[in-house]
Amino acid sequence: MTFPEKLPIPSEVLKIAKKLEDAGFETWCVGGAIRDNLLRLENHDFDLTTSAPPAEVQRLFRRTVPVRITTFRKDIQTDGRHAVVEFGVSLMDDLARRDFTINAIAYHPIRHEWRDPFQGEQDLEKKLIRSVGDPNWRFQEDYLRILRALRFSARFEFRIHARTLEAAKANAQGLAQLSAERVRDEWFKGLQTAKKMSKLVTLWRDVGATRIWLPEMGAGSGELGAVDKLPRDPVLLSAFLAKDPASLLTRLKCSTKDIERGRAIGLWREKYPDAKDPIAVRRWLAAVGQYADDLLALLPAPRSLLTQAVEKIRAAHAPLTLKDLAVKGDDLIAAGVRPGPDVGETLARLLEEVLEDPARNTKAYLLSRV
Ligand code: ATP
Ligand code: MG
Repeated sequence: MTFPEKLPIPSEVLKIAKKLEDAGFETWCVGGAIRDNLLRLENHDFDLTTSAPPAEVQRLFRRTVPVRITTFRKDIQTDGRHAVVEFGVSLMDDLARRDFTINAIAYHPIRHEWRDPFQGEQDLEKKLIRSVGDPNWRFQEDYLRILRALRFSARFEFRIHARTLEAAKANAQGLAQLSAERVRDEWFKGLQTAKKMSKLVTLWRDVGATRIWLPEMGAGSGELGAVDKLPRDPVLLSAFLAKDPASLLTRLKCSTKDIERGRAIGLWREKYPDAKDPIAVRRWLAAVGQYADDLLALLPAPRSLLTQAVEKIRAAHAPLTLKDLAVKGDDLIAAGVRPGPDVGETLARLLEEVLEDPARNTKAYLLSRV
């Protein structure tokens, strides 16, 4: 592959680049959009890097712009998580601080020139993820790069260059220093973009990232084939892979809602009802509530008997919750039930009866049972 003469640049990106250049600042397109365009993959998420200092960029663009503009920079101090950067450096310095050769290609949107000091284009051709510079240093500057390597490898089905992979494994312990939020975002983004999700899971295991951040996923790989047939839902997938989903999602600082979702999946996935027993299926639906679809999605065959049984029950609008009952708490009080906990208990008992036979859900019948 050689560089195309010209790359199609969206007009709004071009406008911004022109404005910076007209003000006297060198401006280049970089990052994922350049890489993906060379791979003939769609990506409209352009990054611009410019010699304009941040204050100058702010002055030129008072309103927010639809692209990320960063100033040429160089890391002068790093601790594996944050970097202190120096501005006023060259494009070459800026490309040298980027993580992988395929992410360190620059294209000038007006002059149509290319800069590829680390042979990223050759690595695209060879389908290789390779650190810019010494992989050990680069991972020690920012351990997140280890996880980014795995994500790009699984997304493009690229190999990780031997020395880069070796360094990723050797430095995996440093991943412990990262914030849970950055790790979670990387893990979720990886699951969402991997060609095969099982490949990403294998990479995380082989490098040692799973041991540190997702220990609930264990070392086994028996269930891995099933992963690729599941919906691309990071919370669901993580829950599927973990022995204790709630604990994994808590470590990743997921939302309470997601943690509860994981907890429900962990709790109920061992207790599916007999699909041929409609009463059992209705009771199960009533008990699992909003998590029914997650639990169905995790069943081995997508169109399982249970899924069909659930569809039938839903189509019949069978009452499944207290809200669906033909009587309300007030009706019970009017019928003589003492206000207080008795009301809830009676409603729950009535729901039990209705789950057994939905035809019982009439006011007359239910009040006759009070
Ligand atoms: P994606 O398609 O996932 O957005 P991307 O390569 O554009 O991929 P971004 O996170 O958007 O990734 O970052 C844009 C660019 O910034 C990268 O291509 C890379 O050059 C650089 N970059 C991002 N994160 C790092 C990092 N942790 N270390 C070094 N360079 C980085
Ligand atoms: Mg990007």
